[in-house]
Amino acid sequence: MGIVVQKYGGTSVGNVGRIKQVAERVKHSVQAGEQVIVVVSAMGDQTDKLVSLMYEVSNHPPRREMDMMLTTGEQVSIALLSAALQELNVPSISYTGWQAGISTKSQFGNARIVDIHSERILTAVHSGKVVIVAGFQGVTEAGEIATLGRGGSDTTAVAVAAAVSAERCEINTDVDGIYSTDPRIVPHARKLSSVSFEEMLEMAALGASVLHPRAVEVAKVHGIKLLVRSSFSDNEGTFVKEATMIEQDIVVSGVAYDENVSKIEILDIENEMGVIADVFNTLAAENINVDMIVLSEHGADTFDLAFTVGKEEAERTLEMIEARKLELKYRDAFSDKKVAKVSIIGAGMVTNPGVAAKMFNTLAENDIAMKLITTSEIKVSCLVPANDGKDAVNVLHSAYGLNADSDASRKSG
Ligand code: ASP
Ligand code: MG
Repeated sequence: MGIVVQKYGGTSVGNVGRIKQVAERVKHSVQAGEQVIVVVSAMGDQTDKLVSLMYEVSNHPPRREMDMMLTTGEQVSIALLSAALQELNVPSISYTGWQAGISTKSQFGNARIVDIHSERILTAVHSGKVVIVAGFQGVTEAGEIATLGRGGSDTTAVAVAAAVSAERCEINTDVDGIYSTDPRIVPHARKLSSVSFEEMLEMAALGASVLHPRAVEVAKVHGIKLLVRSSFSDNEGTFVKEATMIEQDIVVSGVAYDENVSKIEILDIENEMGVIADVFNTLAAENINVDMIVLSEHGADTFDLAFTVGKEEAERTLEMIEARKLELKYRDAFSDKKVAKVSIIGAGMVTNPGVAAKMFNTLAENDIAMKLITTSEIKVSCLVPANDGKDAVNVLHSAYGLNADSDASRKSG
């Protein structure tokens, strides 16, 4: 049997009792004949606590020192888990990021993994030990300790899996898989047996916080089979894998919802070459991320521009546009915070006509207005009034046959 990488998140190792439970799970895998490498996060909300501790000392913490401190969180959990395994007579050894050979770029707080020298891990695995690797950390070329960005232990796990050519990478977490939508909004949300990397990336970017988006990217590039499952049960999880391996009859896999959006509108802008670039350069210079963009011309002379930004950026965005009213030559500009973004996501959309039409029909039949629309190959997003947002998710979820009790569309297994 091959190597399996198992990642356990902060909740899964939140206290000593849970660490012992994780040790039992790992022991089961070992008894089943698997060679196991474990990647762990810091215990519970330890990383948050360490961040606050640093801010008690400094309002502008040096990034190097912040990383120096944050990496201690994972160092505690690897040592405890390894000791817990040895209590169960399972041979094991814990490694920090540098001991595991994880090299990163030299960017504190958001370093990317460039390479993993996996000899040390593999030697230990081949000698029959469970190897436990600290998530979220690596070492730069200059020998500095750096972290991978919040949530980065997922990325450690996938990168290790790629480096040792693991059979699969399991993300053991506090939910039991990826759902067709947020179960807090739609009680009938169903757990998906599989999603494609592309769908997962769209869902992660739209706020499904189960997986670190970079982990999905690394898995996609290296063709790593990812399994998202619960640390607390033996329920089947969700596989994240190549779209070609998934049945093509599934048109829409999930409905995503985002309340953190605001619409900005600029009306009657004089149609001069370069003015649109000018608007967005102004925002880019202030690091404001723009999402949906719609442009509509009024004959040749003027046009309207509408786009969305994060809610907390709405005021600042409008101020910047108003401050440049003379150069940008428009009649009026305003922002609307009472909106929400609803998106349908599905790899099968590319080859199935009528998916967007169904979305618009469904919203219209339910008297839900659409304020902006954008599409990609595997996603259609509509901006709707905030009051109607959750209803929109519900009606779309059932229109595409995604409810757990409906027999449409989704295969099992
Ligand atoms: N402990 C780190 C964090 O809380 C990394 C992780 O858990 O993935 O962000
Ligand atoms: Mg996480």
